[in-house]
Amino acid sequence: MSRMGHVIAIDVGGTHLRAAAYAPDSQIPLKHRRTKSHAPDEKIFDRMAALVEAVWPGEVDAIGVSSPGPLDSRTGVVMATPNIKEWRNFPLTANLMKRFGVPAFLDNDANLAGLAEWKFGAGRGHHDVLYLTVSTGIGGGVILGDRLLQGHHGLAAELGHVTLDPRPSAPLCGCGFRGHLEAFSSGTGIENYVAEQLAAGRKSSLTGRPSARATRDAATMTCFI
Ligand SMILES: [Zn+2]
Repeated sequence: MSRMGHVIAIDVGGTHLRAAAYAPDSQIPLKHRRTKSHAPDEKIFDRMAALVEAVWPGEVDAIGVSSPGPLDSRTGVVMATPNIKEWRNFPLTANLMKRFGVPAFLDNDANLAGLAEWKFGAGRGHHDVLYLTVSTGIGGGVILGDRLLQGHHGLAAELGHVTLDPRPSAPLCGCGFRGHLEAFSSGTGIENYVAEQLAAGRKSSLTGRPSARATRDAATMTCFI
């Protein structure tokens, strides 16, 4: 069996880009670096490339990238991602392969977090794993029969965008549709719900304390209602 060489892992976030180099079968990075995603007059891809160069360990077999979606993991194209406006149908893996001359792979952050939990974390030893992340949005990753569930467009595990309430009056989701799980149960959804209830005059210890909203501490706010 052939053994893998070094790999580079990249995490794309709306605030930070991170890159790390790993030796075969090691979970401890040889080198890792972080930088802000956005800077004036500089493209995000160029900042990412500089980061990869900073951790490049000499010989690399492949680059793996985790990014918020929606994206197409088969073609390596980021369709659109809310905090990175300059990437619209951006062929990320093609650009990485051209720049660094090694194969590059892309998937969404929740899928890869689910895969990591299945392989190294809480899901180790299980054949079927459901991973959910609840923060500003809601993301999901599903392992079925020891395989990451992708679906036709790689969107099978977009669990935050499952419709719970089909009515036109349902709360608006970050994706532009209404009534999705994320519109109710994400940090943003809970915060919006609390703000709406306060605006409608519902009595709460938060009434008249707009600063609580400014802290975006939605979980705390719901505790006070
Ligand atoms: Zn949605």
